Amino acid sequence: MTIETASIGILQKAVEKLADGYSHLPAHTTEYDQQKAEEILLQVAEKMWDNYPYPHPQYAGQMLKPPHPVARMAYMLATWINPNNHALDGGKASSAMEKEAVAKIATMYGWNDYLGHLTGGGTLANLEALWVANHIHPGKTVLASSQAHYTHNRICGVLQIPFEPVAVDDQARMDLTDLETKLQQLDVGTVVVTLGTTGVGSVDPLPEILKLQKKYGFRIHIDSAYGGYYTLADNLTTEVRAAYDAIQQADSVVVDPHKHGLQPYGCGCVLFRDPQVGRYYKHDSPYTYFSSDELHLGEISLECSRAGAAAVALWATLEMFPLVPKGNFATDLSHCREAALALYARLNNDSRFITPLEPDLDIVIWAPKATSTSEISRLSQLTFERAEQQDLYLATFSYPSHLIKKTFPDVYVDSDYTTCVRSCLMKPEHASWGDRIWQILDKIQHNLK
Ligand SMILES: *Cc1c(COP(=O)(O)O)cnc(C)c1O
Repeated sequence: MTIETASIGILQKAVEKLADGYSHLPAHTTEYDQQKAEEILLQVAEKMWDNYPYPHPQYAGQMLKPPHPVARMAYMLATWINPNNHALDGGKASSAMEKEAVAKIATMYGWNDYLGHLTGGGTLANLEALWVANHIHPGKTVLASSQAHYTHNRICGVLQIPFEPVAVDDQARMDLTDLETKLQQLDVGTVVVTLGTTGVGSVDPLPEILKLQKKYGFRIHIDSAYGGYYTLADNLTTEVRAAYDAIQQADSVVVDPHKHGLQPYGCGCVLFRDPQVGRYYKHDSPYTYFSSDELHLGEISLECSRAGAAAVALWATLEMFPLVPKGNFATDLSHCREAALALYARLNNDSRFITPLEPDLDIVIWAPKATSTSEISRLSQLTFERAEQQDLYLATFSYPSHLIKKTFPDVYVDSDYTTCVRSCLMKPEHASWGDRIWQILDKIQHNLK
């Protein structure tokens, strides 16, 4: 694998430029044992060999996408100053950059007047959204589909709010009939709508859920930690497109720049459509404060210290890749989806495999065909292991067997869950690596017993 190193030269120039800004101060240097540091760093490099090759296109398993070099450089550059976006005097420049970056994400969803900030990740971002939701509908039940991220159930435990899962249909999307039943039976305050489930990338039917909102009156929180940027892609199905186009009408949205947004870990984002929810963060401030230009990020975030570097990295990335349809970033996302559709088509046209559902985004799940769900699980696990021996890195996923039965009525169900093979095709290069990935899969399947 070729590890990108050209950025080190660019970073050197940028660090020198950074130093220029402080050259008026009396000379001061950091003393340390450089030889020892070098020894340790080389040791670290060797330790890092014990990772799967995440940046390589033959890593097509879990939700891991390499940060863009510009993000990595900007993050590293910022650590020479190490700003803290908790308070303005800890991170003046990086707080301004955070506001600009977050505004660009909000604009992507058509929001101009909103409240939002970066977080350490999707978990914290969702926690804040449900914490605000619970201020508005205290003690009322939160619903999310059974394929939603498990974090929602756990967050509700932390916040001590009742949580109920809603069944999914055979596309792994929230089932509207079960949703309406639950809305009639329970005192529901918030429905979490997942646009891009973590397991299979399914997109819940937001337009229909908005119709139910008119009838039953509940908050809608969009968890698009994974799939949020997909609103920019130009190759979504009509149904999925409609879900993305309706985000503007939701109450809150979470998107993770560290998932599809080319960022190193430590970068989530939460947005609220109504900026006045800022009053829940700081009770003694008049709410108008929170929509003013003087917005103080530390006062609208549950986290205190936050990496200014994460904001700097995101800002730099958005300079390079504006969040616009047909832009380079949008095209790259479309390529990821293209790669997923191509792999799905190959598997679907091959009688040796079963494909439980067509991808809504860029995650494909499949399994070797067999007569029972337990045998399918065994063969999926074997595929996963053999692929690794061929330097193809996949993942597995436990899918409810009754959903497998819906697509393959002949299968004998002898387990509640069926292990499938799962592949997140999150790198645009995956579109051109399809043949090679298929050759390996074909060879494995040929010898699978
Ligand atoms: C990844 C993910 C989360 C959790 O976010 P982290 O950044 O891992 O904390 C929540 N929801 C969805 C849909 C996700 O894909």
